[in-house]
Amino acid sequence: MSHTDLHDLGVAQLTALLRGKQLSAVEAAQHFLARARAHQHLGIFLAIDEDVTLAQARAQDEALAAGQAAPLAGLPLAHKDVFVTRDFPTTAASKMLAGYRSPFDATVVARLAQAGCVTLGKLSCDEFAMGASNENAAVAPIGFDSPQPARNPWNPAHVPGGSSGGSAAAVAARLAPAATGTDTGGSIRQPASFCGITGIKPTYGRASRYGMIAFASSLDQAGPMARSAEDCALLLSQLCGPDLERDSTSLDKPAEDFSAQLNDRLEGLRIGVPKEFFSAGLASDVQAAVEAALKEYEKLGARLVPISLPRTELSVPVYYILAPAEASSNLSRFDGVRYGHRAKDYADLLDMYKKTRAEGFGDEVKRRIMIGAYVLSEGYYDAYYLQAQKLRRMIADDFQAAFQDCDLIAGPVAPTVAPLLGAQTDPVTSYLADIYTLPASLAGLPGMSVPVGFGNGNLPVGLQLIGNYFQEGRLLNAAHRLQQATDYHLHQPAGLSQQPGEGI
Ligand code: GLN
Repeated sequence: MSHTDLHDLGVAQLTALLRGKQLSAVEAAQHFLARARAHQHLGIFLAIDEDVTLAQARAQDEALAAGQAAPLAGLPLAHKDVFVTRDFPTTAASKMLAGYRSPFDATVVARLAQAGCVTLGKLSCDEFAMGASNENAAVAPIGFDSPQPARNPWNPAHVPGGSSGGSAAAVAARLAPAATGTDTGGSIRQPASFCGITGIKPTYGRASRYGMIAFASSLDQAGPMARSAEDCALLLSQLCGPDLERDSTSLDKPAEDFSAQLNDRLEGLRIGVPKEFFSAGLASDVQAAVEAALKEYEKLGARLVPISLPRTELSVPVYYILAPAEASSNLSRFDGVRYGHRAKDYADLLDMYKKTRAEGFGDEVKRRIMIGAYVLSEGYYDAYYLQAQKLRRMIADDFQAAFQDCDLIAGPVAPTVAPLLGAQTDPVTSYLADIYTLPASLAGLPGMSVPVGFGNGNLPVGLQLIGNYFQEGRLLNAAHRLQQATDYHLHQPAGLSQQPGEGI
């Protein structure tokens, strides 16, 4: 076959070609690396190392030749830069970690490598995964000498979403068939929605957090981002699984073959539609695309059930107390002694800490550390942190009540399509826009985003599907069925070159 259009193939198709030896892992890696270089103006990759990638690809070709191929042998993919990697630098898009090399691979990275994946490089994100637009990235992407946000391939004047903006943009621009992301309060689902790709955050505890640079440990969860639910299923089957010795919140629940769960019919499936997800803040273009998708589900035999998640609005203040509280504790390790950046001139130890952290952290990270320290401080702990913990439990209970009446929940991912770069100057406006993704995060439930159309500016719109605990298979099945009936996941940004060697 002609290899000029390899980037149009998804995970399932590429793995089939690799197994059939119609394509070598080295050819696949070279193709995507050339594309990454040709599109570096989109600010998507923070690190690439051809030698490392090609060495990994050669090892996969040897395994394929020896008939010892792992399930995803030779599949190229890229990792969000919050997963530590031995063979590439890891920065979490922070100056604090500039030049940092981990002595080990995160479990998710190691599992995917074991499954045969070849790492193309590390992807841009918001600093320490804090943000919703990728504009908080504080590290220069390849080809730039100053920090830049990754751009939305559908329109580079718009954000790709965040915090896994580089991951979503890489898949949408077809610089990688798939990528890893992390989701603390929506960071897989929201950028997937903004970039018109498919992403799933599994049940909290299903994917190991070992080697994922911690933001808010009780919420952080890894997951795959790819073009289709079918591709996400292939990756999720490899990426999940217990890691009990290394991650104390890892669940003792074996990985499943999610690909085997894609073909159930949807007749009789009860889809709960929470009225709070269609409140005044929802833009009409997004609402129209989401409602059209719900109609499509009815055509596929599902039944729509009106439900209520009464504390949806409270998920914003609850999350923005709990996540910063955990962040302020997690980020205390960046003190200039053990990791990364250390200030050059200082008078004594305390001065070294202060200057290191003042120089190393960006504004949003500092804001969260201060909020977190405040809500955990004596005198305010009961009023804020403890109250938020109680409400978190009630939000989780609301979902359990709703799941009495439905099998899964559907609604928008975000209130609008991707905003223009630089449009969101006020952090509170950005926090409020997380309203539809935060509830499932606080409850630890699996959630995904599925492309369902285009809104203003011809920018993609995602449908959010939320399942009960361990219902990833059901979510992927519902998404896959929709993708068999629609073709939104197959659209691609206009203006992207078809040749690996040419830019936009
Ligand atoms: N936008 C949310 C935040 O800034 C979610 C980020 C995430 O999921 N990592 O906290």
